[in-house]
Amino acid sequence: MNQVSCLEDCADYAQLNGKNLLLRKQWYIVAILPFVFTLAFDVYLLPRFVPETKFWHGFASALIYASLVWGFAVPVYLLAMFVRVKLFRCPRCGHRFGGGESCGSCDFPRSKGVSSVTSL
Ligand SMILES: [Zn+2]
Repeated sequence: MNQVSCLEDCADYAQLNGKNLLLRKQWYIVAILPFVFTLAFDVYLLPRFVPETKFWHGFASALIYASLVWGFAVPVYLLAMFVRVKLFRCPRCGHRFGGGESCGSCDFPRSKGVSSVTSL
């Protein structure tokens, strides 16, 4: 059995925490960029290629609404990731690890820099 010395050594937590940290740094770009591209597409590109306004009006509106829904879904997903990280179970004792630097139940450290108070 693979022995883990801290929570960040646990593969499931490392994967979840890696995604969480990446999305926390870049979430506003991921949320806003589709809306900016959709606006540029609707305002500049679509009228040049299809001059008939009635044809693309509904399609352009649908793209705007879809990008807005995406823009709201990204922070909701980020919040769900945050909750999943906070509710992660400690690999040593099986209780919720919590938001601290060590497990609230057994003092299992989150990272290698934090030493465990309880000796094994
Ligand atoms: Zn624990």
